[in-house]
Amino acid sequence: MNHQPIPCPCGSGKNLANCCQPLHQGEAARTPEQLMRSRYSAYVLQLADYLLDTWHPETRPKGMNFIDNPDWQKLEVLSSGQQGTRGQVHFKAWYTTPKGLRCLEEKSGFIKQKGRWYYHSGLILEP
Ligand SMILES: [Zn+2]
Repeated sequence: MNHQPIPCPCGSGKNLANCCQPLHQGEAARTPEQLMRSRYSAYVLQLADYLLDTWHPETRPKGMNFIDNPDWQKLEVLSSGQQGTRGQVHFKAWYTTPKGLRCLEEKSGFIKQKGRWYYHSGLILEP
């Protein structure tokens, strides 16, 4: 186990151990944004089980691998909000390709069930 402080990949400015890691270890996210950040970090850290566990059963894939996982650089949350059991996060996620820096802009929808937030689906915005 590595006890060196690691900056959280989600870009919060906190250490991983005080940010997304507790969620990866089973703590419930309090807000859709918190869940979204922890899922971004999970893509960076390639935590397939966490991504599947936090995916709504209606849209959850059967499995996942990281063969096409881009080289994630940075997350930028533009806005987020929730109304009851529905939540939305508008974000940009930056990654590098051999051709340079690229950005995925998405509005993700989240649903809360039994006290836990789940990623449901996303709308990718074309630049
Ligand atoms: Zn984080």
